[in-house]
Amino acid sequence: MDQSSNRLSLPSSPREFGFFVDGEWRGGREFFDRASPGHGAVVTRIPRCTNKDLEDAVAAARTAFEDRRWSGLSGGERAGVLLRAAEGLRRRRDEIAYWETLENGKPISQARGEIDHSIACFEMGAGAARLLHGDSFNSLGDNLFGMVLREPIGVVGLITPWNFPFLILCERVPFILASGCTIVAKPSEVTSATTLILAEVLAEAGLPAGVYNVVTGSGRTIGQAMTEHPDIDMLSFTGSTAVGRSCVRASADSNFKKLGLELGGKNPMIVFADADLDEAADGVAFGIGFNTGQCCVSGSRLMVERSIAEEFEARLADKMARIRVGDPLDERTQVGAITTEAQNTTILDYIARGQAEGARVVTGGTPLDFGGGQYIAPTLFAGVTRGMAIAQDEIFGPVLSSMPFDTMEEAIRLANDTVYGLSASVWTKNLDKALAVTRRVRAGRFWVNTMMAGGPEMPLGGFKQSGWGREAGMYGVEEYTQIKSVHIELGKRTPWIE
Ligand code: NAD
Repeated sequence: MDQSSNRLSLPSSPREFGFFVDGEWRGGREFFDRASPGHGAVVTRIPRCTNKDLEDAVAAARTAFEDRRWSGLSGGERAGVLLRAAEGLRRRRDEIAYWETLENGKPISQARGEIDHSIACFEMGAGAARLLHGDSFNSLGDNLFGMVLREPIGVVGLITPWNFPFLILCERVPFILASGCTIVAKPSEVTSATTLILAEVLAEAGLPAGVYNVVTGSGRTIGQAMTEHPDIDMLSFTGSTAVGRSCVRASADSNFKKLGLELGGKNPMIVFADADLDEAADGVAFGIGFNTGQCCVSGSRLMVERSIAEEFEARLADKMARIRVGDPLDERTQVGAITTEAQNTTILDYIARGQAEGARVVTGGTPLDFGGGQYIAPTLFAGVTRGMAIAQDEIFGPVLSSMPFDTMEEAIRLANDTVYGLSASVWTKNLDKALAVTRRVRAGRFWVNTMMAGGPEMPLGGFKQSGWGREAGMYGVEEYTQIKSVHIELGKRTPWIE
């Protein structure tokens, strides 16, 4: 097929967005210009909101929460809105995927898959809205009945990163809405378009004004102000561990807002000699290559049993070299551009550091030139030791560090040798080993003989410095609720004063 027919074109001029408060679009006074990381051309103009804009958004969300226009509806009515939103997303799938690809640099086919997953999140959220319930205690004696109510926590601030701008948003928004809360969202300043488009979809689906508000701007200004805001009851933050730490400080210094934190990872993939080595090599290549390794759950450390290490690394290198890296707007591309110039520099610096510290590049290790934008070849380092920066730091790029192990005990020790605990995967045909590793490696998401599988039913979140709380599924909805214990006296109360 002619190559040009496989490729979407860039927009003829940048698309200018407003921001969304209290059910209305507002025009920006100043803007960020966002260039497509795959091409270098400016594709969107995003408002640089002010603190006053944030105040308006929080006030709108507060009013919408307090007057119960959303939380006062039945779960069934909330489900109706979420299902209509799912339909709206289905209609606009290709458009949303296009803007996601333009701002983020991910391949268009992958972006479409992420919109499909987002639709499933809204459908799951609709079910959850109906299913959310409390508990009762019929065991307190004939004179007392106990109820446990789940109530929405209130106004939720939502701060999201640039690696999965829409997917991460949709792994939270429907679940927050299912609980009855209202939202002020702030996307990353480099990938705001699709968070704004969601406002349109939700409004068309019948979400009342003030329930979903979006302010756009930098993390240092708007993001920081959200973490300190006394009228935000809970903050769901997804991003780096460093900023997660500042969220904890800001919460302590303001109103003790509840925090949901999804932070970094340095995730192990453990391959035993008895695994299906071809499947394992494919899964490991996917684990580090998918989204150019810019996933919180990317498998970025490979632990491979020493008896097969060299053979497996060669097989893996062969697969990694065959990953189709290139123009994100090309249908055939599997790995696109690095999302920001700063991230591109960080990744290349780590590659240089790995070489300087004595690790060996088996494949990749260089930038790729496609005549515009920024790209890096999927890179495999062998001979990595635990003290090296590439063994410890989250690189957030397509760079995999391989370390051999001799025993299962050593594999588990190496896997846990990190401050993070977000995800892990194990490859073996031996059930005893698979389960022992799954039980003892400290990570919030685990894959056995697969990578990145899952759906909106399953909760997401990390152990250790990878974060607090869980998103998605029923666990995710419950995070956005408060628990109230209610005690009901039945019959005549025994008096205190005779
Ligand atoms: P980042 O922490 O720099 O930014 C994330 C968001 O926080 C952005 O919206 C940004 O504007 C905002 N922000 C920046 N400084 C802030 C501040 N002082 N106060 C409040 N908000 C602030 O992260 P990033 O570079 O956008 O994303 C990459 C990081 O995110 C990686 O470390 C990655 O592991 C992590 N991440 C984690 C998950 C997860 O689910 N655990 C998912 C995606 C990304």
